[in-house]
Amino acid sequence: MRIEQGLKLDYSNVLLRPKRSTLGSRKDVGLTKRYKFRNYVPTEMSMEILRSESHPSYEGIPIMAANMDGVGTMKMADTLASQGLFTCLVKTYSEQELVEFFNPFAELRREHVAYSMGITERDLEKFKKVYSQTENIKYVCVDVANGYTKFFSDYISKLRKEFPHIVIIAGNVVTGDQTQELILNGADIVKVGIGPGSVCTTRIQTGVGYPQLSAVIECADAAHGLSGHIIADGGCTCPGDVAKAFAAGADFVMLGGMLAGHDEGGGEVITKYYQTGEQWFKQNDETYHPVIENKKFVTFYGMSSKAANDKHFGGLKENRSREGRKVLVPYRGEVGTTIQDILGGLRSTCTYAGAIRLKHLSKCTTFVKCTQTHNSIYESATIGI
Ligand code: 5GP
Repeated sequence: MRIEQGLKLDYSNVLLRPKRSTLGSRKDVGLTKRYKFRNYVPTEMSMEILRSESHPSYEGIPIMAANMDGVGTMKMADTLASQGLFTCLVKTYSEQELVEFFNPFAELRREHVAYSMGITERDLEKFKKVYSQTENIKYVCVDVANGYTKFFSDYISKLRKEFPHIVIIAGNVVTGDQTQELILNGADIVKVGIGPGSVCTTRIQTGVGYPQLSAVIECADAAHGLSGHIIADGGCTCPGDVAKAFAAGADFVMLGGMLAGHDEGGGEVITKYYQTGEQWFKQNDETYHPVIENKKFVTFYGMSSKAANDKHFGGLKENRSREGRKVLVPYRGEVGTTIQDILGGLRSTCTYAGAIRLKHLSKCTTFVKCTQTHNSIYESATIGI
């Protein structure tokens, strides 16, 4: 047994130190980033465009909707793509739905949406069938809970050889060594995060994990040394956390809970009625009546929860542990408002840190370790912002 002595950090253990800068208004801050991918071979068709030297493989605002029910839907994908953001679709769409979505050619879908899959024979068969029917799949997210098995890296390697013209996203891992292993086996983008998710119970069920800020810093460093890229996946609870993830070196930030509860996720809206404890006086009959208000919610659950297993796989298989929970999140209407809030926060972070573009944020960052990130005294009494 060994103990690593260095303290590892989460988003909640740091703040960004403000810096003197000559930046004007926050609206001048550019959030678009451009990347070239290490292992992806552009198709002949996209080669035409790429011939111009400066043309990148990816261009957009590198925030991603997670491949979770209620988040990674086709409707979410179209909405986010229209604003330059990215979506990893849930794995459970049928072959026909996927073919219809990716066909015919639609640039926004090709450039801003990933097909997601697991690592079973059936997953591979399904992908081959869909891929053979459309030229419009560029990004493929191969997603497993534990990205450390030899089987997984061999699978990535096999996929890379068979499909040179796709950008492979692979995960999840939390350490530099395995990030490099996956990149050397053919992944372009490695997904980082074990246990930080809002509806994840892996750390409770297994005791396994790695504080997310440190995981992002270490994996980004390892990936960038090989011209690879990473996604900070899970654990962002507010726009400030998204900013900290980029500041830590993430190339993309993936969100589940922060994008849950919106119309585009497609979940059923549940209305709850409750008594506030107040009373109102009715003039007609001169009596007091309890005040009843309602709140709307949407269910949201982890993709390894019992709820997800019941819905998609006919129940939890023997020997498998539940590593997710099911919750009610407040219903929040259209996702556009939330996106504006996140992007507004991110622009403001860049102004404080002196970064004229998001791409400069990490270089401009000094984190300060802290014991408390914000004052929460009136959090439960808030009636507006
Ligand atoms: P969030 O943004 O909600 O904090 O985290 C989203 C991430 O949590 C997802 O992208 C995925 O990596 C992870 N996740 C989703 N469902 C589950 C689950 O059931 N168990 C675990 N361990 N992680 C999950």
